Amino acid sequence: MILSVCTYGDPVLREKSEPIDVISDELRALARDMLETMYAENGVGLAAQQVGKTMSLCVVDVPPDADVDEEGLRENPDVAMPLILCNPKLVKASEVTCSREEGCLSFPGVYGNVIRPARVTVSFMDLDGKVQEIDVQGLVARAVQHEMDHLAGVVFVDRFSHVKKLASSGKLKRLVRDTKERMAQGS
Ligand SMILES: [Zn+2]
Repeated sequence: MILSVCTYGDPVLREKSEPIDVISDELRALARDMLETMYAENGVGLAAQQVGKTMSLCVVDVPPDADVDEEGLRENPDVAMPLILCNPKLVKASEVTCSREEGCLSFPGVYGNVIRPARVTVSFMDLDGKVQEIDVQGLVARAVQHEMDHLAGVVFVDRFSHVKKLASSGKLKRLVRDTKERMAQGS
């Protein structure tokens, strides 16, 4: 089932997620719906907050042709997609950072560069309740960090440079206004 995506101005995007204790059928169904929603919207990641939930759950799927460096070589050939991460925790982040343009399904039409660690190690629980660890780089590392931010109530525009924040402020204000209007209409 395709879920509706909460946009900027919806207070749920500022809520911190609660840890998942038990993998229930309901949680599995939500993960499935989140993937379906992400694919329908052509996104590479989605966090629970973006569909109005507050459990620590996010999904990422970077297609193989996008998981490449400047020379066209695969960056994370051993990481199976999609990633369904329950309770993801940052274990290690590289000192090396990189800047790349990001977008977000909760911010239609807003894009901007964000500086993040180039490589991260993340532990998480999978849908079988097993704890796993992944070491990722490139776009996958970026997507995972972007989604983990959502789970902490942080959105990518928070990480824009001061100049970019100023440049985006009109667009963001309009987005908040549209979101509030839509919420007031109850849709
Ligand atoms: Zn996002």
